[in-house]
Amino acid sequence: MDIPRRVFLVFLLGLSCTTCLSSDSSLSSNGSPVSPQKLLDFAKSRDFSEWMIGIRRKIHENPELGYEEFETSKLIRSELDKMGIRYKHPLAVTGVVGFIGTGKPPFVALRADMDALLLQEMVEWEHKSKVPGKMHACGHDAHVAMLLGAAKILREHQEEIRGTVVLVFQPAEEGGGGAKKMIDAGALENVDAIFGLHVAPHLPASVVASRPGPLLAGSGFFEAVIRGKGGHAAIPHLAIDPILAASRVVVSLQQLISREADPLDSQVVTVAKFQGGGAFNVIPESVTIGGTFRAFSNESFMHLKQRIEEVVTSQAAVQRCHATVHFFSEENLFFPPTINDESLHKHFKKVARELLGPHKINDMQPMMGSEDFSFYQEVIPGYFFFLGVGDDTGERYDSAPHSPYFKINEDGLPYGSALHASLAVTYLLDQQQKFQSVEGGPRDEL
Ligand SMILES: [Zn+2]
Ligand SMILES: [Zn+2]
Repeated sequence: MDIPRRVFLVFLLGLSCTTCLSSDSSLSSNGSPVSPQKLLDFAKSRDFSEWMIGIRRKIHENPELGYEEFETSKLIRSELDKMGIRYKHPLAVTGVVGFIGTGKPPFVALRADMDALLLQEMVEWEHKSKVPGKMHACGHDAHVAMLLGAAKILREHQEEIRGTVVLVFQPAEEGGGGAKKMIDAGALENVDAIFGLHVAPHLPASVVASRPGPLLAGSGFFEAVIRGKGGHAAIPHLAIDPILAASRVVVSLQQLISREADPLDSQVVTVAKFQGGGAFNVIPESVTIGGTFRAFSNESFMHLKQRIEEVVTSQAAVQRCHATVHFFSEENLFFPPTINDESLHKHFKKVARELLGPHKINDMQPMMGSEDFSFYQEVIPGYFFFLGVGDDTGERYDSAPHSPYFKINEDGLPYGSALHASLAVTYLLDQQQKFQSVEGGPRDEL
């Protein structure tokens, strides 16, 4: 997940002041044959949590970058084999998709990302990364372990699954657009809804946080090359100066937010790169500028993209320069906003309340970070939430994701696996009951 460190800290500090969500609904009212509490008790049993922590540590010791998660993928398949869970592989190079349940509709997916970061781990502990310069500093090792944990829980309660749970282990979340490639490979085939989680080390274990609607921003990058005509700095009238043109472009881009965007619709345009020239007395041929833009709705995001291109090319033309703009969409550096489905939010609250209690569910403000889980949400209803893997003091686990000092409280893992399993089991039951009440009977197998 791409979340600036300072923003993450502000978000987490803000969480302590947020109001707990509450709901009058109860799981028992839907007649679930297996209560979330029962699944949590199973997940918290000593043997189970030690097995799950062991998997997380093994992956942590051997971090692999996007589309290189070969050993992680192998470990996942080996565990699924041991559980007798069938799966498809490979999808998107290293991806794995498992299936538990009846093999019939409805279908619900649970997602975990598998990739690590180019970062040297600075935490000294028994299971420190054994690969120099690579580290699981975003907790994706824990995500894999928790989804395997959910698989084990679901396998143990297979007879109580009223449909099919699809386990999506995806590569390359960290800027590689692995989710998009998984969708292209058919990971969401027949799937009605998808749930995903991300660890949050500044929240105590057993606390969760999310919100309905926009949660994380859509994120894009742009790079523009502004071409003029090089020449002697003392004879500017014989040159066409791209430095001046690029400077005007930067200033004009800032007006997109201050003058064109609705002040109540948070957006960002940042020019973070400005490269051109190398001598005091030479006007260069060209200047390259680049940066990021963020927004919480597809409409605002696409509008920003269009206006960035217009402003860059038009403003450069005013200065007699020619500009081209590249948005890296083919390189999968273009993430849509993460927008949580409203009805899945109600479902999440209901399940989390039953499993954790009402005081462990925090409402949160949207953040300008981004997640490629949003690609799934473009195709089907999806819900993304944060899971506490810190402690009550907020001190022992005080490093944000992507820090070389990042660490998590493994006591949080059973909650993640139980939440995954409970969200899926109760979703399938609700769907089946809804369908039966409308149609008077179950659907045929697809
Ligand atoms: Zn990340
Ligand atoms: Zn992440």
